[in-house]
Amino acid sequence: MQAEIVSIGTELLLGEIDDTNATYLCRQLTGIGFDVERRQTVDDNRGRIVQVLQEARRRSDLIIITGGLGPTPDDLTREALAQVTGRPLHTDGAAEQRLQAFFAARGITPTANNLKQCQVPRGGQLLYNSCGTAPGILLEHEDCIFIALPGPPPEMHQMMSNDVLPYLEDKVKEAEGQILYTRTLHLCDIGESSAAELLADILDNEGNPAVALYASPGQVRVRMSTKAGSQSAASRRLNRAEQDIRQRLGAHVYGVDDETMEMAVGNALLAAGATLTVAESCTGGLIASRITDVSGSSRYFLNGYVTYSNESKKRLLGVSEGILEDYGAVSEECGRAMAEGARQDSGADYAVAVTGIAGPTGATSDKPVGLVYIAVADEQGTVCEEHNWPGTRQQFKQRVAQMALNMVRKRVMGLV
Ligand code: AMP
Ligand code: MG
Repeated sequence: MQAEIVSIGTELLLGEIDDTNATYLCRQLTGIGFDVERRQTVDDNRGRIVQVLQEARRRSDLIIITGGLGPTPDDLTREALAQVTGRPLHTDGAAEQRLQAFFAARGITPTANNLKQCQVPRGGQLLYNSCGTAPGILLEHEDCIFIALPGPPPEMHQMMSNDVLPYLEDKVKEAEGQILYTRTLHLCDIGESSAAELLADILDNEGNPAVALYASPGQVRVRMSTKAGSQSAASRRLNRAEQDIRQRLGAHVYGVDDETMEMAVGNALLAAGATLTVAESCTGGLIASRITDVSGSSRYFLNGYVTYSNESKKRLLGVSEGILEDYGAVSEECGRAMAEGARQDSGADYAVAVTGIAGPTGATSDKPVGLVYIAVADEQGTVCEEHNWPGTRQQFKQRVAQMALNMVRKRVMGLV
């Protein structure tokens, strides 16, 4: 089935905000088997919105619109939909009652503009908005489905997952007898080309599941997809393919679907019943921040040290004056001493330390921008890796944090 996306809002065309809604919608729709063939952006102009919708309905089975559902006069999606389908607007009584109650609970009387949000083209259905006032609209008209969603991303996301995606999955199943199931494996510490070599025959082969590699800065993913009539049939095939891919990529696979590296680290520590501390120089607290993005991380994360100055490395982590003088703060010796000092001071089972040159300033003749040492200390001793990742300061910090977390994960799981 063919879908297209129409983003509405003058602010998008002024370059004031990014069209993150369209990106999200493309991913969700392709994920359930739609072919997304176009995405367009229109300003808050009724004539142009009508024109774009008229063209879109001639070629697509599904049109998803975001934005322009609010109470202000520049919110024109509802009127444009009514015009394109020739279905006049009327007020949905239940939605109006909900809106009245919403305002009453806040001691406010709704204006006529607010009540406009409860209008729907004849034959259409309003979609409940659990985190805002503007309901969405679902309208099946002739052979086309129109879905209009509110612009604010959190409202749009919840409406998609609560109502729209289940509805669309049913539509795809009805039309094709089966839907697309996907599973994504996340990789670390391996480039796209090396991964492609290890998976060459699986990638070449037009197999079922289909397997594809995706790379974006700092991360490589393997996506498996299969069309099936049921979740269990899909799972059997996806499990088989996952097993094969894991055998070839080994410890490079750190997560599945929504699992982030920090979650993988947390799971490994929980399984081992172990605790962690971090000593950060060049990442300035990013590693601790990512670890604590995971709810429940207090079960394994004890504390962090952001030791940016030499003085703090000495005072908080016990790095010796001798190491700093002889080798400098960005050195294997200092990285190891930071990890060991943090482990001793905190009493954690594992300590990870990073020290490097994020740039763009700070390089010396023998220490370039991008040089970094990552050390992990545990009861068996200390391991340290040297890397060189030139790039922007932000890219460097992200990459170092990702690799440091991965080293912890591998060490805790006994993979290195
Ligand atoms: P609207 O529903 O058109 O009143 O949009 C309300 C707000 O939602 C806008 O001010 C933006 O902050 C946000 N928004 C609207 N469209 C988009 C979009 N395509 N991508 C991301 N945010 C959006
Ligand atoms: Mg708008």
